[in-house]
Amino acid sequence: MAGFTGGCLCGAVRYEVSVDPVRMARCHCDDCRKGSGATFATNVFVPAEAFKVTGEFATYESKTDAGNTMTRAFCPKCGSPVFGYSSAGGGVMRAIRAGSIDDASFVKPSIEVFTKRMLACTVVDPSTQKFEEMPPPPPPR
Ligand SMILES: [Zn+2]
Ligand SMILES: [Zn+2]
Repeated sequence: MAGFTGGCLCGAVRYEVSVDPVRMARCHCDDCRKGSGATFATNVFVPAEAFKVTGEFATYESKTDAGNTMTRAFCPKCGSPVFGYSSAGGGVMRAIRAGSIDDASFVKPSIEVFTKRMLACTVVDPSTQKFEEMPPPPPPR
């Protein structure tokens, strides 16, 4: 595949990714639920340097339970959530909202986090590795 494109509903914010995702995850935490407008968020993680965004976007910052700053970027015109990033690990990753990807047919999460907050109506994916809360970050390379 090597890369993909996406953007907000109205097209004012667009992005290009030049590599394949490092990780795909579903997050069931309350912040992701509200920030995504869906019953849970599906995030596609890519290195920040491989993510090129064009157009004006707005951001909203919040604190995570672990004390990191989570920044969520959205289109100020149509309101679509587009991507986010955490100050954890130096902010080197971008979490792209899977719903913003043009052809999202490749999306296949391998992990799920904050499953203790999963809504009863959510269909359980038997193929994913599940964590009740946020798992510890992978060791530095
Ligand atoms: Zn828009
Ligand atoms: Zn979350």
